[in-house]
Amino acid sequence: MIIVMKPNFSEKQLNAIIKRVETLGYQARLIRGEETTIIGVVGDDRPIDRTQFELLDGVEKTMPVLKPFKLASRDMHPADTLVPLNGCKVGAEKIVIIAGPCSVESRAQILETAHAVKEAGATALRGGAFKPRTSPYSFQGLAEEGLELLAEAREQTGLPIVTEAMSPEQVPLVCKYADVIQIGARNMQNYALLNSAGDAKKTVLLKRGMMSTIEELLMSAEYILAKGNSQVMLCERGIRTFEKYTRNTTDINAVPVLKQLTHLPVILDPSHATGKWEYVNAIARAGIAAGADGLIIEVHPHPEDAMSDGAQSLKPEKFAQLVKEVRRIAEAVGRC
Ligand code: PEP
Ligand code: MN
Repeated sequence: MIIVMKPNFSEKQLNAIIKRVETLGYQARLIRGEETTIIGVVGDDRPIDRTQFELLDGVEKTMPVLKPFKLASRDMHPADTLVPLNGCKVGAEKIVIIAGPCSVESRAQILETAHAVKEAGATALRGGAFKPRTSPYSFQGLAEEGLELLAEAREQTGLPIVTEAMSPEQVPLVCKYADVIQIGARNMQNYALLNSAGDAKKTVLLKRGMMSTIEELLMSAEYILAKGNSQVMLCERGIRTFEKYTRNTTDINAVPVLKQLTHLPVILDPSHATGKWEYVNAIARAGIAAGADGLIIEVHPHPEDAMSDGAQSLKPEKFAQLVKEVRRIAEAVGRC
């Protein structure tokens, strides 16, 4: 339920309402918008008798939030959430581009990539130190050594670091080095991990599971928000369909659907969505045209030698070209 305050409410009235919400065993989330102030009531999904609040001083009206996701919903939070990243606000006019290798492989590899993507205009550096691989025999990542290398790359380039945590136990270590914790597609419904990321109070990039619905993605975001962490970016990275020519199928629909349903920023990952470098640029442009707030792109100086996801990784020159083209699309749709 949401409680909409009258335009001329007093702080005393507001506090009395919040107290009543809490006395009844719910949590009150205060959302002060430019025009209206809203109290979101969450914490128990049994129906609440709304009339008891409608009679209180300062209350304009109450409304049920019928969707299963509450804090993630635009009904509760009509304005876009803007997530700070390297001097930008993800969700605002300027689109952001997170770029880097799938995995951190060596000092030379990550530093070369970091400098190249920075030069091309990236907003942040990505790179996995803990890798969720289908096969236990595949490269699993450099673990803490990889995080240290990412920190060195940040020191040299100033680019903030986006890197994955695969378990709640890894969250404190990843937080020590990262600016943004990535939760990967395979872990979208790892509720213990979502709770730890919520407690960590660090920005989270939450990727959609390859077999998850948009609503399931939003319910996973809800776990992080319910812990009091509102710095969440959602990522569409392609879903599994019967189509075989691409690794996944980009659910481009998810971009405008998410923008309508939620106030959280939406990032598109055309690298995992297509699985082939040849298609990454086209789908990146499509994502921005569809209203995505940013992109996450895999870049590798020598894709043929990459230890993971080489087939979908762009060489730095191709990435620089993508940035130029995407910025032109952004301008054409009223972004920058
Ligand atoms: C990745 O970003 O390298 C990754 C493993 O992505 P996803 O979780 O979307 O498969
Ligand atoms: Mn990858």
